[in-house]
Amino acid sequence: MSQMNSARFTDDPRSLLRSNLDELEQRINRACMRARRRRSEVRVLPVSKTVPAAIIRIASELGLCEFGENKVQEAESKVRDLADLSLNWSVIGHLQTNKVKSMVKFANEFHALDTLRLAEALQARLSAEGRHLNVFVQVNTSGEVSKYGLPPQEVEDFVLRLSDYPALVPRGLMTLAVLSGEADKVRECFKLLRGLRDALLDRTSTRLDLLSMGMTSDFEIAIEEGADVIRVGQAIFGPRPTKDRQYWPGLPLPTSALSA
Ligand SMILES: *Cc1c(COP(=O)(O)O)cnc(C)c1O
Repeated sequence: MSQMNSARFTDDPRSLLRSNLDELEQRINRACMRARRRRSEVRVLPVSKTVPAAIIRIASELGLCEFGENKVQEAESKVRDLADLSLNWSVIGHLQTNKVKSMVKFANEFHALDTLRLAEALQARLSAEGRHLNVFVQVNTSGEVSKYGLPPQEVEDFVLRLSDYPALVPRGLMTLAVLSGEADKVRECFKLLRGLRDALLDRTSTRLDLLSMGMTSDFEIAIEEGADVIRVGQAIFGPRPTKDRQYWPGLPLPTSALSA
C-alpha cells in the first residue's frame, strides 16, 4: 500500500475515512478480478480495536454497520457509547471464559473459538439468555507454537463435537496467517485453511463453510485463496499506535527478545 492515512489524529476524520474506504474498495475489486470472483462474495469486517467510539460513529454514517473488536472490555464501552445506532459486533480475538458473560450480551459473532471448554461456557450462557451465536473455529495454520487456534489435524474432531452445543452456530474457519513479508508463506496458511474447509464439507455434514482470513497486510492474497470474510482494521482507520502483540498475547516473542 502506498500510504495509510491516519483517521484518528486529524480534524477531518470523515474525508480520511472516505478516502481510505475508497482505496480499500479498489484493492478488493482488483483482487476479486484477479481471482475471477465477484465483489459480493467477499464480506469486509471492519476491525475497530483502538478506534474511539466517535470515529466508529462517523464510519457508521459512511455506511459501515458491523465492527470487529479484539477485547471484550474495550468493546463494551464502545457498544454502550454507540447504543443508539444499530450495529453488529463481532469479537475476533482470544476469549477468556470469565469474559463469556459480557461478550454474549453484545456480540452476534465470535471468530476465535478454539477450545471445547470455551464452547461449553458459551453454550451455558447463551442458553440462559435464550439466544444463538455465530462462531468461527480458529485454526493455527502458521505452525507458530504459542499462537491461539487449533492444530489443523484436530479441526475435524472439534467441529464434529460442536453439535453438542446447539446455541453455537458454526459458520466457518478463521485464521491469522504467519506474520511474514513473504507472500508465499502467507498464501500457504490460507491454502491450508481452505483445504481444511473443503475436506470438512466433503467428509461431514457440517454447514460450516466460510473462511475468515486476511487483514490489512494480506487480504488480497486471502481473497485470491477464497476468503469469504476479511477482517480489516488499519486500511480503514489508519495505522494503530498500539502494538498488535498486546492484542495477540499468544504470539511468540521475537528471538531478539528471548536472547536479551
Ligand atoms: C487487529 C486484527 C485484525 C485486523 O488487523 P489490521 O492490520 O488492522 O487489518 C484482524 N484479525 C484479528 C484477529 C485482529 O486482532
